[in-house]
Amino acid sequence: MVINLTDQIIEQEHDYIVQTYKRAPFVLVHGEGVTLYDSEGNAYLDWAAGIAVNALGYGDPELTRAISTAASSLIHVSNLYLTAPGVELAKLLCEQSFADKVFFCNSGTEANEGAIKFARKVAYEKGLTDKTEIVCFTNAFHGRTIGALSLTPRDKYQKPFAPLMPNVVVAEFNSIENAKAAITDKTAAVIVEPIQGEGGINVATPEFLRTLRDLCDQYHAILIYDEIQCGMGRTGTLWAYEQSGVTPDILTAAKPLAGGLPIGAILVTEKVASALHPGDHGSTFAGGPLITSAARVVLERVSQSEFLAHVQRVGTYLRERLSEINSPLIQTVRGQGLMVAIELKVDAAPIIEEGYKHGLIMVNAGTNVLRLVPPLIVEENHVDTLVERLSTILAKVGS
Ligand SMILES: *Cc1c(COP(=O)(O)O)cnc(C)c1O
Repeated sequence: MVINLTDQIIEQEHDYIVQTYKRAPFVLVHGEGVTLYDSEGNAYLDWAAGIAVNALGYGDPELTRAISTAASSLIHVSNLYLTAPGVELAKLLCEQSFADKVFFCNSGTEANEGAIKFARKVAYEKGLTDKTEIVCFTNAFHGRTIGALSLTPRDKYQKPFAPLMPNVVVAEFNSIENAKAAITDKTAAVIVEPIQGEGGINVATPEFLRTLRDLCDQYHAILIYDEIQCGMGRTGTLWAYEQSGVTPDILTAAKPLAGGLPIGAILVTEKVASALHPGDHGSTFAGGPLITSAARVVLERVSQSEFLAHVQRVGTYLRERLSEINSPLIQTVRGQGLMVAIELKVDAAPIIEEGYKHGLIMVNAGTNVLRLVPPLIVEENHVDTLVERLSTILAKVGS
């Protein structure tokens, strides 16, 4: 029997890769701008960006050049030796945020793991050995390793992997009352996404963030913002927290930071940095010259005011156009910048599936939320195409 290459890849994925993902039924081979192409030559307008990662889209010449130049000079040396790009990236991150210092790692989860350790170290340095509790919130997503998973209060993710990290307190997202009850003298840190991603694109109110800041100050706890998904220009400001004006002690960044290459960064104030000493934490690959050369290009581009104005403008247009879609399946449209949710009255999965047939790549955020987190270079005409195709799909699925 002759089977084509696409079918062979689909079949071998099933045979040789651990089946923890339900993947789309095509094989991607090439990307350009905001368009992806599969092995059969089909084109897809990309509203997922590799899950809020590919901020500059595909085939960006400046990013590609930076990666190839760095690759031909030095890929990896470990953190025992100095290279320039990581130091330069750290300096840029500090200049563009509340932070005084940066620790690099390789993923979002790893950044949150580090943030937990850093917060506990701050208390430990003061001799406060029972100040170990971490407060997190309902519908949060902080990652899949045991520490980060412990702060991701969803049964589906947590239950098979118990026992998890102890001393975790879960409070209700956006509930000031709940936060007041949860944060005490025992609290080492409070971790919150200024805009929840996986949990359904839920925006933290400025009053909620202000309350967390005040409570953390009152109880000498560390406030951690997980901006792994909402940071790096996604919401129309470089960091989502800028819109509330309330700064954290630690901020974790990852997803788009190196334009698709794996990276995580823990941004900290001097108060946190001064609690950390040689040997306290580490990571073999972290902050290497190849990855950080790429990240520098992304950060330089994304932090430009014209770039951020573009995100705001197209984001506003996107939400306006989506709100005009007349479909009984749509509950609400919400979000900030290019981090947008369409909450549906039905499951998102069949609509995503149908999207593939209409040349759209979209992801969900929970069962009934369609999440739109495109490359940040997306334009109004792409929004028009999305709205046109999505209207057709909703009419078809809804009938
Ligand atoms: C994706 C995500 C993480 C985990 O990042 P990985 O790179 O997948 O480990 C953590 N927090 C938030 C808010 C995320 O969106």
